Order: sequence, then structure tokens, then C-alpha cells
Amino acid sequence: MGLDNGHTHRLDLDDATLREWDATVLHSSADDGIVLDRSAFYPGGGGQPPDHGVLLWGGVQTRIVGARGGDEFYLVPAEDDPLPPAGTTVRGALDDDRRSTLMRTHSGLHLLSGVVFRDFGALVTGGNMEPGEARMDFNLPEIPADFKASVEAACNVEVDADRRIDVRVLPRDEAFAIPDIIRTATNLVPPHLTEVRIVDIVGLDTQADGGTHVASTRQIGRIQVAKVENKGKGFRRVRIRLAP
Ligand SMILES: [Zn+2]
Repeated sequence: MGLDNGHTHRLDLDDATLREWDATVLHSSADDGIVLDRSAFYPGGGGQPPDHGVLLWGGVQTRIVGARGGDEFYLVPAEDDPLPPAGTTVRGALDDDRRSTLMRTHSGLHLLSGVVFRDFGALVTGGNMEPGEARMDFNLPEIPADFKASVEAACNVEVDADRRIDVRVLPRDEAFAIPDIIRTATNLVPPHLTEVRIVDIVGLDTQADGGTHVASTRQIGRIQVAKVENKGKGFRRVRIRLAP
């Protein structure tokens, strides 16, 4: 399905706006962390760092400061916080500020990649983000003189256009029939996946992606291009931040 990690149902993939939910602890140990039956924590991946938050139970709280995805999805508790034993019912809550800012930042990066491909024909070679700031690497041999200013202006035109950002899950064959997906993702999607999650900034950028996103480009807010770095032959790094 792609909507689960091991024994954990991924609520964040169903609804990126969810911030609080009830869950049962399936596993808990100081060595490897906590496994829930249902979780809205984003485990990290695709350049988006994991969520932070808390588990509330029995009058105490366990702060969650990280996560490890993979075959099983472990939440990493803060050192010295009490651990809810297996079987405990907990109330999960995300750090809303961090998650909401990461959603805007992640959507901003997709918007940037759509603009730079459309206006300059450059392909993305890498990227990473922290809340409110991000970098994306492009294969771009020549930089026009006004590159930084024109990218920033074009990004904010697309923010103002308030384009819808749709997330859907498609069968693999159908996903790879989309030309943009072949361009960006063929080598990134593991061969065993039968379904592919698609994030579509309608009319601008379509990518295979597992992250959390805002619902439209206006929700990203102002984008500033902070810096364009030359990292070697054809390798340009564009740093953006969300305006405060
Ligand atoms: Zn992404």
C-alpha cells in the first residue's frame, strides 16, 4: 500500500493537517524507541526532517525528538523522559510550528524546482531543508546575469497564482506514464513499489514524493532566494528561505 511503515499506520500520509490523535503503543524500549499502531509523525526522508512532538499518557509526557523510518517506524524519545509501556493508550501531538513550517518549506522547494525547470531547463540533482530554509542543487551550466532576482520573482508569481497542490497515490504504471515523473523520479522509486505517491503543483510541477505539503502555493508565503552558489562545473546550489 505505501501507507504503512511496518506495524504503524501512517496518518500523515492520509491527512497532512492532522496534529493530534489517539494511538496504542506496540513496542517500547530505551534502545530502539517507541512503535505506535497509528502515527502522524513524519519519519523523515526526501530531504524533509522528522517531526517533533509529544505522547501524553497517565499524566506524564514523553517528548519525541526524532524518528527512524524503514521496515519498522521507531519514534525517538527525549533522553530521560518516561517511556509508555507496550499496550498503553497515548495521545499523540505534533509540534505544529515545526511541521507547518516544514510543509511550507517543502512545497516551496517543489515550486522552485518547477520554476527553474520551466524557465531554465535545469534538472534537480539534490536538495535538503530545515524549517523555513532550504537548498536545491541544479544541473545548470550557464547562469544568466539576473538569475537570482528572476527566479525569486517567478517563484512569488506562482505563490500569488495560488495553484492547488494535489497529493494522490497511483499505480506504478500510471505514475510513470506522466512525462515529468519519468524526468525526475525513475531512478528514485524503489523497483518493488507497486504504487507511487504523486505531489502535483497543478500546472507547474509533478513529482513522486513521500513528504508533507500545504494545499496551495499561496500557503507557502513569500519566497526569498538567499544565495546562488557555484559548486563546480554545471553544479549550482540555490538557497531559499521563507520570508518571516
Ligand atoms: Zn519533495
